Amino acid sequence: MDSKSAIAAPGAPKATGAAIVVAGIDAGSTAVKLVLHDENRFGFWQRPSGWSPGETARELLQEALTAWGRTKEELAYICGTGYGRVNLPFLDSAVTEIACHARGAVHLRPGVRLVIDIGGQDAKGILVSSTGRVIDFVMNDKCAAGTGRFLAVMAHALGMEVADMGACIPGSVEAQPQPINAMCTVFAESEVIGLLNQGIDRRAIIAGLHQSVARRVSAMVARLGAPGPVLFTGGVARNAGVRAALEKALGCPVEVKEQSPFAGAIGAALIAREKAAG
Ligand code: ADP
Repeated sequence: MDSKSAIAAPGAPKATGAAIVVAGIDAGSTAVKLVLHDENRFGFWQRPSGWSPGETARELLQEALTAWGRTKEELAYICGTGYGRVNLPFLDSAVTEIACHARGAVHLRPGVRLVIDIGGQDAKGILVSSTGRVIDFVMNDKCAAGTGRFLAVMAHALGMEVADMGACIPGSVEAQPQPINAMCTVFAESEVIGLLNQGIDRRAIIAGLHQSVARRVSAMVARLGAPGPVLFTGGVARNAGVRAALEKALGCPVEVKEQSPFAGAIGAALIAREKAAG
């Protein structure tokens, strides 16, 4: 989604001059996500990170403020997170991804106990207490397999958009998963090309890819357990096929909220609000 199609609090009232506005920015490897928050509402914007996440974030912030009829001087606090946060010189503070994602997830789904975040270049599992505190976490940021990058590479090999892969739900009548054996993204790409050449149905390959991501991530989060509701966040949460595969691999429901991809930025905005309040 680019900035033109940003979800900007449809129908929300114009901010009054008195409402304190704060911003949360999640500068990810693939996309910069920005959330503006005042007493009454949240607004959401997203844009591909591009070659300079810092510049992208600055432009996105300006666009968001213009949409809300506010100026930078009126922003009470800007909190940043994500891998690119070190490149955002205009932040008031930077906070870890684990803290922001957990905070955002608890806001989106009160009572959540396990957060599974799959983004462009990493996957995380965060165990949250019944009071919303981070108890433990696991993370894969060493290998593309089991991340959005893996799916983006495979979409390219399959000649399709990553956004169109989600319709293939593993185990559905139309898409019995074709097992993908390679553990590494580069070898898996060759395997996919080989399967296509053998005439294997593309939907079965996609379902197998979703299963591969789900198995990797579920193995990673296994030691955390799932003592209660599970929320799926990050850009890959938009992929219904991965969600279904995760439910199967974990053996429990996995919830997705409309704003799941913005969990980190929502958490940053909530932390910004606290800091602005002193
Ligand atoms: P980051 O925070 O690292 O920038 P995101 O959390 O934004 O990453 O997730 C990016 C990933 O989300 C992409 O690599 C892609 O796999 C996935 N993704 C993005 N948009 C969609 C979509 N519309 N449908 C399915 N998957 C998507």
